[in-house]
Amino acid sequence: MKNIYLDHAATTPVAQKVIKAMKPFYQADFANPASAHLPGQKSAAAIEDAREIIADFLGAEKAEEIIFTAGGTEADNLALKGVAMAKAEEGKHIITSQIEHHAVLKSCEYLEKHFDFEITYLSVDENGLVDPEELKAQIREDTILISIMYANNEIGSIQPIKELVEIAQTNEILFHTDAVQIPGQFKLDVKNLGVDLLSISAHKFNGPKGVGALFVKKGIELVPQMSGGSQERKRRAGTVNLAAVVGMGKAATITASNLENKKEKLLALREYFISELLTNFKDVKLNGPEAELRLPANINIAFKNFNSESLLFNLSLNKIAAAAGSACASGSLNVSHVLEAIGLEKDYAQGSIRFSLGQNNTKAEIDYVIKTLKEITTRLESL
Ligand SMILES: *Cc1c(COP(=O)(O)O)cnc(C)c1O
Repeated sequence: MKNIYLDHAATTPVAQKVIKAMKPFYQADFANPASAHLPGQKSAAAIEDAREIIADFLGAEKAEEIIFTAGGTEADNLALKGVAMAKAEEGKHIITSQIEHHAVLKSCEYLEKHFDFEITYLSVDENGLVDPEELKAQIREDTILISIMYANNEIGSIQPIKELVEIAQTNEILFHTDAVQIPGQFKLDVKNLGVDLLSISAHKFNGPKGVGALFVKKGIELVPQMSGGSQERKRRAGTVNLAAVVGMGKAATITASNLENKKEKLLALREYFISELLTNFKDVKLNGPEAELRLPANINIAFKNFNSESLLFNLSLNKIAAAAGSACASGSLNVSHVLEAIGLEKDYAQGSIRFSLGQNNTKAEIDYVIKTLKEITTRLESL
């Protein structure tokens, strides 16, 4: 067996066509897009083409509603801090959830610590879902922003974003969503969703690392978080990562054209994997919601009384790459904040692993993983 990669929620391989699209922009067409000369204009045109593609990919009305960033983390930081600083005089209360990515959670902590914001962290149910009634109940006079992730990277729970946005709109509060896990699994449509801000990251959908985008609905003010040049309509200073932005555009085009096909494949594989896990092992528990409310690529399974670190280490020895919770959580001994938030018992939480599928994974690979996991658990149990 060759290496089996089941960690696509952490990152994905860059598509061959994406690399090909990026290449010219490193050497032949390398000019600074801010330069007035002809080569510079060519670079600027390539960036604006990519902006049109990303706007279309997200269902945005205008290309200028897209700000290119250095990834999902920066997009989340700019959304949270940018809106907070622009609206601080109207109010200093933000509502988010307990299961957000650290890019959102730590941005909130930063605003709390350095700018005296108050943050309400909505709890989630045992499936990792926010209750719209709780959101309603937590809204205050001084609430200026609600940030709830579209789908969770660890347990795959998909939030009722449209319903949550309606509540925000009724109360005239801005709504941001971290949608980094969505591309390649669902179509994004910011207009239909009604969100004011939305983050994506290219490397989660076969684009390069270090590039992402923030959708900001026209008319919404942001305080830039980088001081410098007037790039990105003065909302994000710094020379745009030309080749990477072109690559993200190409990745979006490929992702959009292949979506239904890929989704169907992922769903079939996920259901097979889950049923194999549940039938082959005793004392296991599927973390996260059932079928429709779970990301097609996500499987998060708890092995009672096992230690996820040793399971992952042994899987790794057998050339299988998986994760404990999120990439950021692994390596630390703490139980993931997401598993804690869904109230998973400690003896299950400590033995939880996440498998995240890609379109090139096969049934044969899943069979090998099941067989290997059986050997590993049997051996670890006998120790
Ligand atoms: C990966 C991820 C991020 C961070 O994106 P980067 O481009 O790696 O900075 C943010 N939110 C979620 C939900 C993610 O999965």
